[in-house]
Amino acid sequence: MNSNNWDVLISSARIQEGIRKLGLELTEIYSGKKIVVIPLLRGGFMFAADLVRNMNIDLQIEFLGAASYGEQTKSSGEVRLTLDTTLPLSGRDVLLVEDIVDTGLTLTYIQKLIKSRNPASLRTVVMLDKKARRQVDVDIYRCVFDIPDRFVFGYGLDNSGGFGRNLPDIVAIKD
Ligand code: 5GP
Repeated sequence: MNSNNWDVLISSARIQEGIRKLGLELTEIYSGKKIVVIPLLRGGFMFAADLVRNMNIDLQIEFLGAASYGEQTKSSGEVRLTLDTTLPLSGRDVLLVEDIVDTGLTLTYIQKLIKSRNPASLRTVVMLDKKARRQVDVDIYRCVFDIPDRFVFGYGLDNSGGFGRNLPDIVAIKD
């Protein structure tokens, strides 16, 4: 991978510190409960894997897959469900874990889908928030980092060709 094309925006050490704090907070909030954590694939897998290792509670993991990007770097606004959960969510406390919120269209769609299954509660945590690009108001419990309007990848997010998810840092393409 050619590192001349990008700048490190958030280092692996900062990511891990942010997640550790969020994990502590969620451990307190959900103390005594058995929750379902749903990473939104594909981008949310790495954040979720680190987050659950910082949560000291009983939890199950289910996966939802959504795609809105294709090969482009702009949201099409169209959300496709690529993978669905297998456990019933009715009456469960659900924590949805997403990599990044941009226009908000993907999360709005996925939250509506989960709510239609009557969970006892639904909270959404996101790693990154690009507030400048929001098109719809979306309910987010916590975001770990606010970022500027730049295309980012690494730490689970792809560089728009499906590569780059394995970088431990979050990097931004140079303008
Ligand atoms: P939204 O529906 O909020 O516009 O976009 C959410 C989805 O768009 C995310 O799940 C992610 O897949 C993708 N996305 C938004 N911004 C970026 C970005 O800067 N980099 C990458 N790799 N994906 C992004």
